[in-house]
Amino acid sequence: MRKSLSTFSRQLLQWFDLHQRTLPWRLNRNAPPGTRLNPYHVLVSEAMLQQTQVSTVIPYFHRFIERFPNLNSLADAHEQEVLRLWQGLGYYSRAKNLQLAAKKIVSDHAGQMPGKVDELLKLPGIGRYTAGAVSSIAFGQRVPILDGNVLRVLCRIDGIQDDPKNSPTQKLLWKRAEEILPRERVGDFNSALMELGALVCTARSPQCLVCPVSAHCQALADGMQDRIPLRRKAKSTPLVHRHTFCVRCGDRYLIEQRPAKGRWAGMWQFITIEADGDSSRLLQTPYSLRASVPRKIGVIEHALTHRRYQFEVFACEMKRAATPKGLERPSKWVTLAEMDQRPLPRPHVRMVELLNGELPS
Ligand code: SF4
Repeated sequence: MRKSLSTFSRQLLQWFDLHQRTLPWRLNRNAPPGTRLNPYHVLVSEAMLQQTQVSTVIPYFHRFIERFPNLNSLADAHEQEVLRLWQGLGYYSRAKNLQLAAKKIVSDHAGQMPGKVDELLKLPGIGRYTAGAVSSIAFGQRVPILDGNVLRVLCRIDGIQDDPKNSPTQKLLWKRAEEILPRERVGDFNSALMELGALVCTARSPQCLVCPVSAHCQALADGMQDRIPLRRKAKSTPLVHRHTFCVRCGDRYLIEQRPAKGRWAGMWQFITIEADGDSSRLLQTPYSLRASVPRKIGVIEHALTHRRYQFEVFACEMKRAATPKGLERPSKWVTLAEMDQRPLPRPHVRMVELLNGELPS
């Protein structure tokens, strides 16, 4: 950093006061001084914002808070309902952990959210970043945060050219995030750093001309703002093939529940198997379903951070809604409208749309 810390935080906070976005989990900028944020809202927003953009999160946040307005209501909820409200946000372990954290706060802290980092770290799914964010933003504790936005801003301000994913650089960045904390308004300061990274000091085109802290920035002084932080070459993601069978009897479809652990844990889906054989025979052999010959109705592609999926989707009919032999997972026959009440992985939501004629086949 090229100038004094106190000027840096003052200029950053002045900018934040004028330019922060109005977000449902933030206090309105006209809120009376001394008003505290709702720690539960901060916790829910932080869980939802991991790996997910603000604009995507906002409608989910509203629906979630409307249904679960406090920790007790979330702790008491049926997990399937929590997953259903999370459907489409992805990374469903976040939803499960959020509910487990709510249960633990209710049982161990009489329903009052703890404000200290070491207590927050004992809650399921809460790592160092989330603990720091909740503790500083909701409770005003003087603790640092380091997420992708803060990391980028700090690397540029200090002109750090090492790979920020390396452990020694991470350590250094956490230390810097702590050193630059002001004495007051720590939560706002941390939020301001993230906001600066989201709105001005963006990954691809930092807007240095309008940056409130440009005078402090080493990367700008060195003309390195487009090359810091160092980017690793993106690895190619493996493509996984699946065959999905939309087995219908009358107006009902056969669905199965995914295992309690792993990707899309506990959610429901059409019968899906690894695509390593002849699709027309696969359905009858493993599950002994007396169904018509499957006909292909579409292909659904779905990309996650570390892998891509391709689902070939087949439709077939049965005369009798029998429980299939050999299907080890819980299964049900439901209408498409009833399916809509259950948590479904995003590709299967799109398959429902396909069956409803809402997607091109
Ligand atoms: S001057 Fe540019 S690179 Fe430096 S912090 Fe501001 S936006 Fe980021």
